[in-house]
Amino acid sequence: MGQGELRGVVALDGPSGTGKSSAARRLASALGASYLDTGSMYRAITLAVLRAGIDPADAPRVAEAAAAARLVVGTDPAKPSTSLDHEDVATEIRGREVTLAVSPVSAHPAVRELLVAQQRRIVAEALDAVGGIVVEGRDIGTVVVPDAELKVYLTASADARAQRRTRQDSAAGRAADLGATLADVQRRDTHDSTRAVSPLRAADDAVELDTTSLDLAGVLSELLALVEERGLRVLPEPSGRTT
Ligand code: C5P
Repeated sequence: MGQGELRGVVALDGPSGTGKSSAARRLASALGASYLDTGSMYRAITLAVLRAGIDPADAPRVAEAAAAARLVVGTDPAKPSTSLDHEDVATEIRGREVTLAVSPVSAHPAVRELLVAQQRRIVAEALDAVGGIVVEGRDIGTVVVPDAELKVYLTASADARAQRRTRQDSAAGRAADLGATLADVQRRDTHDSTRAVSPLRAADDAVELDTTSLDLAGVLSELLALVEERGLRVLPEPSGRTT
């Protein structure tokens, strides 16, 4: 794979249901960049914890399970993948059990330390390979890549986020109930923003983008405009010219 058009790191943070994942994937594809979904990493570790029958609140055992898990995430925006102990778990990590347990598991400092180190390695490899990466999560601009070239913090009303999540669940064939999803979104927000280690918050130098009344195309065009504005897009040489 050659160099894409994006130079550097775009950090996309924000609570669930703001359209972060779809926008991050589309942005990475549009720019020929790599894509990293850090939420899928916390979800995969949560699955390992649940499979081992460990209580998500049991810090030492959760840390042990996280360290033992063989986690591999793909960074191609056209086919993101997550495997745990050589098994494709992309579907299972979106299920209800994992969604309920992921916030307490990801609040453990040992889990964060392990995954942040892995995320930084993935970012460095992508920068070497294709020149740019779009990384989405909760603490990308504040902790994982504090010197990211562009940080965007996505927000949306709780209702709009619950509606998005419900549509995604039903499109993926999962049980979808708006009331339950709204409660889940609010519970995870509270948990993620009040935890002691790297809570969900906008970096001081992040651009805030409210997606309540934007569709995916609208979010994407705002993001592309920010990338251009920062001079992070390098257009390819016209064909026929070699340097
Ligand atoms: O993005 P997604 O909703 O899949 O993330 C699932 C959970 O993983 C979040 O609710 C949060 O608890 C955790 N997470 C995190 N830090 C990140 C990404 C996700 O704590 N960078």
